Order: sequence, then C-alpha cells, then structure tokens
Amino acid sequence: LSFFIRSISFTIMLLSFLAIQLNLCFSNTQFSLPDLRIDGHFTFTNNEFAAKDYGNQFQFLPFAVLHPESVSDISATVSHVWDLGVGSGLTVAARGHGHSIQGQAQAHRGIVVNMESLKKPKMEFEFGFDFGYVDVSGGELWINILKESLKFGFAPKSWTDYLHLTVGGTLSNAGISGQAFRHGPQISNVQQLEVVTGKGEVVTCSEEKNADLFNGVLGGLGQFGIITRARILLEPAAEMVKWIRVLYSDFSTFTRDQERLISAKKSFDYIEGLVIINRTGLLNNWRSSFNPKDDDEASQFKSEGKTLFCLELAKYFNPSDNAGEIYEEIESMLSELRYIPSTVFMTEVTYIEFLDRVHTAEIKLQAKGLWDVPHPWLNLLVPSSKIQRFGDEVFGKILADTSNGPVLVYPVNKSKWSNRSSAVIPDEDIFYLVAFLSQANPLSTKGKDSLQHLLSQNKKILDFCKEAHLGVKQYLPHFHTQDEWRAHFGQTWETFQRRKMAYDPLAILAPGHRIFQKGI
Ligand code: FAD
Repeated sequence: LSFFIRSISFTIMLLSFLAIQLNLCFSNTQFSLPDLRIDGHFTFTNNEFAAKDYGNQFQFLPFAVLHPESVSDISATVSHVWDLGVGSGLTVAARGHGHSIQGQAQAHRGIVVNMESLKKPKMEFEFGFDFGYVDVSGGELWINILKESLKFGFAPKSWTDYLHLTVGGTLSNAGISGQAFRHGPQISNVQQLEVVTGKGEVVTCSEEKNADLFNGVLGGLGQFGIITRARILLEPAAEMVKWIRVLYSDFSTFTRDQERLISAKKSFDYIEGLVIINRTGLLNNWRSSFNPKDDDEASQFKSEGKTLFCLELAKYFNPSDNAGEIYEEIESMLSELRYIPSTVFMTEVTYIEFLDRVHTAEIKLQAKGLWDVPHPWLNLLVPSSKIQRFGDEVFGKILADTSNGPVLVYPVNKSKWSNRSSAVIPDEDIFYLVAFLSQANPLSTKGKDSLQHLLSQNKKILDFCKEAHLGVKQYLPHFHTQDEWRAHFGQTWETFQRRKMAYDPLAILAPGHRIFQKGI
C-alpha cells in the first residue's frame, strides 16, 4: 500500500512540475515575444479576426498575431519559436486573406502572421518584348497585382476566379481558373520565391537554385516555409473580353465539348463550366448582364425542373482589333460545339471587370448579409475517364434537386502542371476541377440548406468516389488523420515527409492543416 501511495504522490509531483514548466514556457514566450526586435508589432488582444475564415466553421484563437513589416520580422519570430524548441508547443501560421474553408490559416494558441501587413518588397516590374515578371510580397492581393500590372499593359497569365486572395495563400494550394488549361495553375507561373523556413532561415529559391524547397513550397499547404516574396510571370494584357454562355442538357456532350476546346490549337482564352440544378427563370436572370443571341427563342426556354450544364467562355481582344474578324473567329469556334442553340448569351466587358467578376457578386451578397455564412465547400479533381460516372451519380442522384450554391465543372491539361511541385493531382492527361461552392443558412438546423445537411451531402460524394475507386483527389484538401493525408499524397507522401523534416523539422508551420504535430 505504501508503495502505491508513494507512486501516486510521485506522479502528482511530476505532473505539477510539468504543468509549472509548461506554464513558465508560455509566460516566457508571452514576455519574450514583445522583446523581439522587429519593425512591425505583435498584438495579444483583439485577435478574433485571426480565428475566422471564409468557411465559418472552425475558430481557433491564436496566442499572438504578428503584423510584420519586413521579412526579418517573420524570420526573427520563427527563429524564436524554433529556439524555444518542442516544449513551447508554439506553432506559426501565415494568414493571407483568411479565405480558407477549414481553419487552415489558424494556429490554436500559436502565432498567426498577418501577411497582408507585409508590404515589402514594393511591386517591382521587369519587361522584355512580349514577356515580363513582377516581384511581389507574399501577402499581396492578386487584385492589386492586376491593377498595377495593367498600368504597363501586362497582367499575370493564370488566375483564380476571385482575386481578393493573397499570393502566398493561392500558391500554397495551386490557383486554378479558366486559364489553367492553357497556362497551368498559378504555381506553374512563378519563377522565384523567397521563403522563411520552419527554422527561421530566409531562402531564395527557384528551379535553378534550392529547387527542392521551391517545388516543395508550390502547392505545399504552407508546410515548408512562409512565402515572403514571389516572382510572377506576366503577359501582354488585352483590354476587353467577349464573355459567352451556352447551355447543355446532356452531361457527356457538355464535357466532350469542353475537352475538345481545351485540346484545340486555336481556342478561347478562358474555359469553365457550371452545373445548374432546377433553377427557375435562369435565362431571364442572365439578361441583366448578358444579351441573348436569339431573344424570342431564349424567352421560350424553360430551366425549372432540369439539370443543365453551362459552358462559360471568354475571348480577350483589344478595341483596335478588327471587330468582324473577332466575331468570325468566335462564331467558327462555337459552330463546332453541340449546345442547345436557343441558349447562346454574350456580353462585352473590360478585362478587369471580367477577372474581378466574383467581387461584384461578393458586394451584392455582402449587402444581403449572405457573404459571412458557413461555406462547407468541397473541391475535387476528377480524372477525365471517370467524369461521366461521377456526373451520373453526383448530379443525377446525390444532387438531383438542388445544389445550394454554384457547382463548377471544367477540365484542365495535366501537361501544364509540374510533377515536381507538392500539388496532388489525378494521374491522367486531362482532369476536371469540380467545385461544390455551397453556402449554409446559419439559421437552419435541419433543412436542405443547413450546414449539417450540406456536410452530409459532401460526405456522400466523397464516400461514393472512394467506393467507386474513381482516383479523385481533393483540391484545398481537408482530412482528420495522418493516414488520410498519407492516402491523399499516395506515392508523393515520402517526398512530402522528407521535405517537412528538411525545412520544418519541429512542425512549427501551418498547423491548421493538421498533417503533422509539433515535435513529431
Ligand atoms: P489563407 O486562407 O489565409 O491561407 C491558406 C493557406 O495558405 C493556409 O494554410 C496558410 O497558412 C497558407 N498561407 C497563407 N499565406 C501564406 C504564405 N505567404 N506562405 C505560405 N503559406 C501561406 N482557389 C482556386 O484555386 N481557384 C479559385 O477560383 C478560387 N476561388 C475562390 C473564391 C472564393 C470566394 C474563396 C473564398 C476561395 C477561392 N479559392 C479559389 C480558394 C483559395 O485559393 C484558397 O482558399 C486560398 O488559400 C485562399 O487564399 P488566402 O490568401 O485567403 O489564404
């Protein structure tokens, strides 16, 4: 009995000692962080913004937020956490514009780096005859890069649909939009990076120099370093855009036409697609911003009760171009397609209006209080050979009545993706981005618009993909266990793990993905 009592007392003593050490560690950190010599500053209160994201489902409050003014601020902070070692339990998450869905840019009781305060370097442009590049801060918003580069008549080649996202945020994933079939994702259009690794080192990297880190960081979910500067490739920009929409009722005709367009030598500059389920007065709504080619026929078209597939296309042009020639070119490309003839709609907008189109929608949703609701988004990359099977089940059965938000479907060419980057993609020459961009009604608990219902719908889709062995990969991935992460990476898991050991061995960075735990 006395041995038992002594063991218990010893255990209690040990636990108290550990608790005191842990406490000391936290308070040491708390007091030593403000002592770090930095150009920017830390905040320890009013940091609720750093515990939120666009998904509106996960809220983890950080212990501190760094508002850096220089790369050395970030390096000093990460070095400090590195020096504290495993025991501090502190992690560091770079936060871009906080438009993640599942808390990926959050750090529970850790340090969040508010990348948007990093304004250095100022954008620096370099141009040749028909090419250029710009050096930007990792915390820069793409919309600002567009506005600045247009002053020189240039623009980045590859985009996301929404431009109020940071360079570091999209390069940590891939950055995909309707230009990706031709130029590849944004990670294929970066020449050089400056990165702060998990040891606090500042490293410049490219395909020629420190290539392993460069490739690791691109699509690397923030696991190997914080991107503080990026060199983005530019091309001469057009001034205007012809923006076209046509409808299909048959999924296989729709995807065949999409694939034909992304494989053609001469094609549109932007190719995307949408699934539209049981929408009343669809074409009538389009009229507020698009013109029907045939007004009478379009007004007789009924969309309610149907699942339709909208092909969305854009052709860039300049006002000085021959209008007749542009029209002929578009007509000739459209004549190859097999959409429903009465559903051709077209409009003409400036290049910047076209690229910033989702922001226009955002302003309307903000006004109605519908922007800051939960967004249980699911993004999948589906191999072309399986897209029909996927469509039959998902659009034919799982989402037969409604979608609760846009559903995007469009193909891209694998040849435009580097196989050295960390991005995980299906093993097929053509694969589709299928994005379920749902929004939940925060007041609904059981309805079809409730968060619960939408999450269970996502699960049904994921379960089907797994059971049917479709070879689908998640884009903007989210998993609960390391085994699931391992399965997601497949053959590239070893490389991913090796890079983690090389550049962030204490697992300090980007804890919100829950891939690695600090110290393991
Ligand atoms: P955050 O959410 O702040 O961060 C995302 C991840 O990147 C986190 O893990 C974070 O730690 C890490 N990170 C952030 N900055 C850095 C950095 N400097 N260095 C290293 N890691 C960093 N994606 C597409 O590909 N195509 C689209 O068309 C598209 N449209 C979207 C539209 C909307 C309305 C929204 C909300 C998202 C969209 N996305 C799209 C997804 C978007 O690209 C990602 O969610 C992206 O990560 C968001 O960028 P952010 O700046 O908000 O990053």
